[in-house]
Amino acid sequence: MRNGDVSHWWHQLGAPEPRPELPGDLTVDVAIVGAGYTGLWSAYYLKQAQPALRIAIVEQRHAGYGASGRNGGWLTNSVTGGREQYEPTHGRDAAERFQRALNDTVDEVIRVAATEGIDADIAKGGEFTVARTPAQEARLRAFAAAEQSWRYTDVALLEAAEATAKIDVRGTRAAVWHPHAARIQPAKLVAGLAHVVERLGVEIYERTTVHEIAPHRLHTDHGTVTAEHIVRATEGFTANLAGLHRLWLPMNSSLIATEPLPAAVWDELHWSAAEVLGDFAHVYMYAQRTADDRIAIGGRGKPYRYGSRTDTDGQTPASTVRTLQGILHRFFPATAGAEIAHTWSGVLGVPRDWAATVGLDRRTGIAWGGGYVGTGVTATNLAGRTITDLILERDTELVSLPWVNHRVRRWEPEPLRWIATTGLYAAYGMADRAEAAGRATTSPIARVADVITGRH
Ligand SMILES: Cc1cc2nc3c(=O)[nH]c(=O)nc-3n(C[C@H](O)[C@H](O)[C@H](O)COP(=O)(O)OP(=O)(O)OC[C@H]3O[C@@H](n4cnc5c(N)ncnc54)[C@H](O)[C@@H]3O)c2cc1C
Repeated sequence: MRNGDVSHWWHQLGAPEPRPELPGDLTVDVAIVGAGYTGLWSAYYLKQAQPALRIAIVEQRHAGYGASGRNGGWLTNSVTGGREQYEPTHGRDAAERFQRALNDTVDEVIRVAATEGIDADIAKGGEFTVARTPAQEARLRAFAAAEQSWRYTDVALLEAAEATAKIDVRGTRAAVWHPHAARIQPAKLVAGLAHVVERLGVEIYERTTVHEIAPHRLHTDHGTVTAEHIVRATEGFTANLAGLHRLWLPMNSSLIATEPLPAAVWDELHWSAAEVLGDFAHVYMYAQRTADDRIAIGGRGKPYRYGSRTDTDGQTPASTVRTLQGILHRFFPATAGAEIAHTWSGVLGVPRDWAATVGLDRRTGIAWGGGYVGTGVTATNLAGRTITDLILERDTELVSLPWVNHRVRRWEPEPLRWIATTGLYAAYGMADRAEAAGRATTSPIARVADVITGRH
């Protein structure tokens, strides 16, 4: 089994051709920190709108090194932290417009990939989420009813027989499905996007680390970049930037990918429409059937490293592999003999209130997009288009969405961050075990943990 090496997706694609480092001081119109989806989508839409803009992206390793090259490949319509949080402040209509914008963004990513010739194994089969315990089932039914009270959610409740005919997850009690989701190969999307923006004239500098973002300036280990506008697109690595250590907590998520599975296994599992698959556990899992017939399945491994330390090229502990393999076998007993080909991890950015944000401070020229927690594949495109509208001062529907210029308080200093995060995930794990043992309702431990984390 391969461990780390950034991700299975990058291994499948082959190591990227290195791009130049920043050659020294530079002046451009827009300087972007981070060549993940947020940075690349921002560059793409800015160049589409104003081809004469001079844009440089500064990347510490290589384009797609972060979460964008490692994720579970769910291109889905989630509002990070839930759309309900925006109702008290912005009203129900604004929350629903946000949902509709994310539905449309799934199709926008598919459209651009087709237009620009990016083959990212995209297949739109919707999002399918199962309940396997009585407590999960109660949560799922309440969730389905609540979702159906909002416009644009399009959630259908599937009883056990209908659900297992779609994907035969062992022990399914009920499921929900909605159509606004596609399976992708994440690294193919990010690598393809990087080539597209380069073709449009964007300069990408790799192996160049930004230490500090100042008004209209980036201080890097290779020189200073001066620009009218800066875009901070550093997500789970933001904690490494001067002054931003406690803004977004870097949380780990881990995956395993099996070897390609034989047709006999797929005959048992069904799963023929490329649905992305999740569950209703507190420490939830997420999975996809890859274009080459593997199962890639992810979840929380070791969630957090003391002091907000980030990454070691995706290295993953053996205990996490065992946890994920256990889920794989419980969900799909037919995979019992399947080899695990690869395991890897990545960091995502968690704001104190679990609400993603995009914005621009006109005084400093600094724009940002991030804090997507585990649901940024789609939102990064919306962020890129919104950052474009903000920088170009366009008064569009996008700049009026409720996440624009949302500010959040910082995380607590250590050791509180470590205690809180590690303790809370232990609590969620305990709640899952109690529910798996037959508890009919959501464990009170999980309810308390939800209140403390600010998770809705
Ligand atoms: C394991 C995992 C699974 C996930 N699964 C899903 C999923 O299935 N669906 C979903 O919607 N979301 C998922 N997510 C979240 C999603 O992948 C992210 O929200 C999204 O990719 C964020 O993109 P980004 O460009 O903002 O950040 P990133 O892709 O992390 O890019 C940030 C880039 O900035 C660079 N950088 C950082 N700091 C500096 C610096 N100081 N100087 C220079 N460069 C710097 C990094 O090297 C990196 O390339 C997952 C995340 C992880 C980690």
